[in-house]
Amino acid sequence: MKKYAYESNRLCDHGVGIVQSPTVLLLEAGPDETEITDVPSLAAYLQLSRMDWAYKTMYTGRACLGMKNGQCNWPRGKVLGGSSVLNYMLYKPDAGDSIGREIDIRNESRKQIVTAKKEVVMSAGSINTPQILMLSGVGPREELDKHGIPVLADLKVGENLQDHVAMGGLTFRINKPVSIVQDRFQAFPMTMQYVMHRKGPMTTLGGVEGLAFVNTYLGKK
Ligand SMILES: Cc1cc2nc3c(=O)[nH]c(=O)nc-3n(C[C@H](O)[C@H](O)[C@H](O)COP(=O)(O)OP(=O)(O)OC[C@H]3O[C@@H](n4cnc5c(N)ncnc54)[C@H](O)[C@@H]3O)c2cc1C
Repeated sequence: MKKYAYESNRLCDHGVGIVQSPTVLLLEAGPDETEITDVPSLAAYLQLSRMDWAYKTMYTGRACLGMKNGQCNWPRGKVLGGSSVLNYMLYKPDAGDSIGREIDIRNESRKQIVTAKKEVVMSAGSINTPQILMLSGVGPREELDKHGIPVLADLKVGENLQDHVAMGGLTFRINKPVSIVQDRFQAFPMTMQYVMHRKGPMTTLGGVEGLAFVNTYLGKK
């Protein structure tokens, strides 16, 4: 587990509520970013790497039906910067809970206890945040009881988890040789164009040039 302690004006600027030159300890389970993580077109290569928690969904019989065992990979960033390091940087233009308490840090070799004077911000992502809360006794009583976890607060933690389904199999022909296919993409000139000028196909966002969420009549079923 990595630790970073630094003076952070940025956290103050963003309204976390710490005043006057706070000392902030940021705990992150994963490694630092690398040169590869900065290349927009290589986003997909980071999945299932050591920077990914590499979760898999459970079989539901309603989604991921074309996948092995009906399970999808569920990438989540395990790296300083989180899932934004793995993500495809597609943004819609319009588009933590805070508690003060002790944190118990464990890794393979040792255990440390850190205390916070002001507050602890839990921001471990949409899967790990509810997981850590529940392991700490904050969650649905029924679920915590199943695992013998003493209940501190019986709350509906994790119940609103949602994800968007993506479809990756649409293939069609175009009348100009401009699409990103493996042969063109690996070409040396394109790599040099990116390295020297930060231009060209390698700047595309993981090969995704457009994304749409479309309501269809099937969505109502
Ligand atoms: C493959 C992929 C593509 C995406 N594409 C887009 C996109 O194009 N556009 C968009 O807007 N959004 C996209 N997203 C979503 C976006 O990246 C996330 O919504 C956002 O990064 C979530 O931020 P967060 O801070 O809540 O959590 P995260 O970024 O997941 O950060 C949580 C951090 O907590 C760390 N952590 C977890 N547990 C522990 C622990 N026990 N100890 C220490 N550290 C821990 C994790 O390692 C991680 O670094 C994508 C996400 C993925 C995975």
